[in-house]
Amino acid sequence: MVVDTYQIIKDIKTYAKENNVPIMTDDGINYLTSYCIKNNIKNILEIGTAIGYSAILMALTNNDVTVTTIERDEKRYLEALKNVKRSKLEDRIELIYNDALEVKINGDYDLIFIDAAKAQNIKFFEKFEKYLKSGGTIITDNMDFHGLVDKDETEIESRNLRQLVRKIKAYKDFLENNKNYNTEFKDIGDGLAISIKK
Ligand code: SAH
Ligand code: MG
Repeated sequence: MVVDTYQIIKDIKTYAKENNVPIMTDDGINYLTSYCIKNNIKNILEIGTAIGYSAILMALTNNDVTVTTIERDEKRYLEALKNVKRSKLEDRIELIYNDALEVKINGDYDLIFIDAAKAQNIKFFEKFEKYLKSGGTIITDNMDFHGLVDKDETEIESRNLRQLVRKIKAYKDFLENNKNYNTEFKDIGDGLAISIKK
């Protein structure tokens, strides 16, 4: 049977909406996939699979792209597995069901896409950067966190949210001060950080 990619992507987006799964926005995913194409990205590590949406779209940028992606939520992992199989991409997308901070991996990646627990970004970066090729890129999603990062703190009522925003700001500082990378922040989707390893 022919794989109807268009229908699969549409179904994944519908599922995400109905189940409140925070997949990338259209602008964000368009930037990410264009980045892969322009920079000839072949090996990708993703932290935060959710239901496989961004992994599948990155894998579809070229038929020799491989993606390793990590998800700790069982329900989402199982949904991702279903979506990857339906897309016939099981040979090119490796799904790991584990906490990214616990798992042991190997590899030499062109791109690492960090899109998991926003408060843990520095930990993810520090753990996984050794698996990035020199000249490779780390892209981090949700740098704006729905506009909250640019808001005055006194306007954010929830204490947990205030703490999360502080962590995202600390991560931005961490990237800006990281001498081994050139980082650019893009006001695309929910805010992307593009960090290129020198
Ligand atoms: N990249 C996906 C969206 C990911 S949403 C897309 O755009 O299609 C973020 C996901 O990260 C959630 O499903 C959450 O369960 C997962 N996550 C958060 N912290 C994690 C961790 N420490 N290890 C593995 N997965 C994690
Ligand atoms: Mg995201």
